Amino acid sequence: MKTSAIFAVTSITALLLTGCAQPAQRQAQQQLNQQTVSAVNWFQQSGEYEALTWQAFNSARLAFDHAPSLTGKPKAVIVDLDETMLDNSAYSAWQAKGDQPFTAKTWSAWTQAKQAKAVPGAVEFARYVNSHGGTMFYVSNRDQRDYAATVANMQQLGFTGVSEKTVRLNTETSNKQARFDAIKNEGYNVALYIGDNLNDFGGATWHQGNQQRREFVNLNHQHFGTQFIVLPNPLYGDWESGMAENYNKLTPEQQLSTRASRLESWNGK
Ligand SMILES: [Mg+2]
Repeated sequence: MKTSAIFAVTSITALLLTGCAQPAQRQAQQQLNQQTVSAVNWFQQSGEYEALTWQAFNSARLAFDHAPSLTGKPKAVIVDLDETMLDNSAYSAWQAKGDQPFTAKTWSAWTQAKQAKAVPGAVEFARYVNSHGGTMFYVSNRDQRDYAATVANMQQLGFTGVSEKTVRLNTETSNKQARFDAIKNEGYNVALYIGDNLNDFGGATWHQGNQQRREFVNLNHQHFGTQFIVLPNPLYGDWESGMAENYNKLTPEQQLSTRASRLESWNGK
């Protein structure tokens, strides 16, 4: 067979294969996105979601007020940004409506648009801490290239103490432990950590599966509500990738079957 003929046959085979693979992949992606619709509805529509965020920030305020003072060390509170202080559920809704997977490119476009809302209670809490002898540190895994847009969005929403010193984005690693240690080494008494992801409380759960993540919670159960304050986030998170090794590298079909296989179900009798 001539090279050109081999090329033609190979191209036709490739075309046929991608022709079959793409609709299946698209369908699986569509199904993945459809499965988040209920979570987005709950997040955006329910009073219960707002009640939980207020509950978190009211508890945080009590914990901040009661945190022991250490002589010579100013009190600090370390908070995450996305789905802790900032509500990006419109991005999740856009994904669900348009069958869009999460990509760094579209996420950056969303952050550049500066349309995130404040999580209920978040602005009030930040202002309380900053006006009662504390310092808010905003430690997020947003990319450094989105720094200016993130700061502008936060300022529009009324967050106080937003500066180069206090807003620390992802420069080297998504493991936040080094950034937490740096704040402590600068002389701060970190009274509490607030986040929607266990990784917002230290490096112990970073890149771990759900069994290890739940063990972390069991080991530290006495700290929740006092040193660790959790915000609800059913939209996304490491709880999802914690369901299988390399979950984020799986195809949409594999992610779908992973989700189904992790259901702990009643047998109907
Ligand atoms: Mg977050």
